[in-house]
Amino acid sequence: MRFTELDLAPELVRNVTELGYETPTPIQQQAIPAALEGKDVLGRAPTGTGKTAAFMLPTLHRLRGKEGLRCLVLCPTRELAIQVAENARGYARNTELFVGLVYGGTRVDADLRDLRAGVEVLVGTPGRVNDHLERNNIDLSNVEVLILDEADRMLDMGFKPQIDQILRRCKRTGRQTLFFSATMPNSVKSLAYEMLRDPVTVEAAPRVTTAEGVDQFVYPVEPSKKTDLLLHLLKGKEFSSALVFSRTKFGADRIAGQLTRAGLKVEVMHSDRNMTQRVRALEAFRAGEVQVLVATDVAQRGIDVEGISHVINYDAPKDPEGYVHRVGRTARAGETGVAITFMSGGEIGDVAAVEHLLGYRIARVNVPGYSVFAEESTDGEPQVTTVTMPVSKKEERASRGRRMGKHAAKELSPEELQKLLGVGTAA
Ligand code: AMP
Repeated sequence: MRFTELDLAPELVRNVTELGYETPTPIQQQAIPAALEGKDVLGRAPTGTGKTAAFMLPTLHRLRGKEGLRCLVLCPTRELAIQVAENARGYARNTELFVGLVYGGTRVDADLRDLRAGVEVLVGTPGRVNDHLERNNIDLSNVEVLILDEADRMLDMGFKPQIDQILRRCKRTGRQTLFFSATMPNSVKSLAYEMLRDPVTVEAAPRVTTAEGVDQFVYPVEPSKKTDLLLHLLKGKEFSSALVFSRTKFGADRIAGQLTRAGLKVEVMHSDRNMTQRVRALEAFRAGEVQVLVATDVAQRGIDVEGISHVINYDAPKDPEGYVHRVGRTARAGETGVAITFMSGGEIGDVAAVEHLLGYRIARVNVPGYSVFAEESTDGEPQVTTVTMPVSKKEERASRGRRMGKHAAKELSPEELQKLLGVGTAA
């Protein structure tokens, strides 16, 4: 299928063609025709599947020739809002439609110039959109298209009250709602049920469902030795830029401090950092001025940076789908990357849940001196803790779909290991 077959206005087709898009992605092929018919859409699609164009193109098509605020796009984080607005502006080139962007952490007044100049599409985080509603800076009564992007994340971040508030200010009849979420837990389903009328459901597998193109390893490690192991890895030759995930903000700050003291160039990203700090952190990381970005899950989906060589889960993700999002930050655009997950004794269950979702066992790398515990295998016997690495990509792929076997691992000599990962085996 080609974009010309989608009945989109020629200027929109021209814009995506100029952006280098040749064919619509699966989520675009499903969502665009339904949305063009005016239907509500319930999309299960994570970032990386082309979902922004899936909701923006039919919306821009619908709004052609109209003026005033007609479309509101809600995003959970500032980073995602910035990305969505940037993409939307690209799709809206050579139309008379303007895209505004508002997010917390900046002075509310600073948004007014854009808002007063008039925008047809407003992209924003729920908190800041509410601030403007309360100050009567925006009027949602003519909003024809309401879009929720990463609804699951917005609920996780506690934005339900703000979303309710915003809904109360939008018209009920004649409104089209496009609702996107990477996951569909019950809280998301019930919000979708509240907001959508007779929706068409569309679904796209994440581009990296099973972290295709990513070499994945689990490092068993004592909790007290995680930072030492991290330093050990980061000082290896192989790594060019690493995104390190911590479960807590406090942890992220602490890790960043320790790495900085060890002489690495580090930035931190979490929800306590203000907007200027976050944008600066991301810019510095993008530009290669810092090698390590330590982040909490806030950054799990928002970061779209080319060429991250390593994603390191300092703490194992609490939800298995989160793992796929985190790991998806590396090996973007068909490159290869390495994803490393530290696993303390208390995190064995978290890693098992990830492996259950993936459908295969991730190779273990035991670096002597960092781990003393032995994992139990399914038959209750402790597993042999030796240095293991996956066999070739082809063999590893062939092992996918098999449950929790040991097929994905073979022993490597310390030299081979060092060459592959820049990991020494000395304690
Ligand atoms: P998204 O899932 O909207 O964050 O999109 C992920 C990336 O894919 C963005 O960098 C888009 O510019 C790009 N993209 C979206 N649609 C297409 C397409 N049909 N062909 C190629 N790239 C696309």
